[in-house]
Amino acid sequence: MEIHCGECTVELKHEDLVIMNQAHTLTHSHCYKQHGSYIKDTGTYEHIKNKYWFYKKGVEQAKKRRKQK
Ligand SMILES: [Zn+2]
Repeated sequence: MEIHCGECTVELKHEDLVIMNQAHTLTHSHCYKQHGSYIKDTGTYEHIKNKYWFYKKGVEQAKKRRKQK
């Protein structure tokens, strides 16, 4: 499962410049419309994904939670 931009819902590519807000939502840097103070980190999607490894783990946990219900 890939992560999609929170604004335009297009799938994020490894080389795309993305912005992560404080809620850990990822958007393309050109799609970001919130206040600059909400930005937690920026970089390529690959960089963010490697740095914040919990994105992968979070998806797996979300799947487990859905199955339990
Ligand atoms: Zn976008």
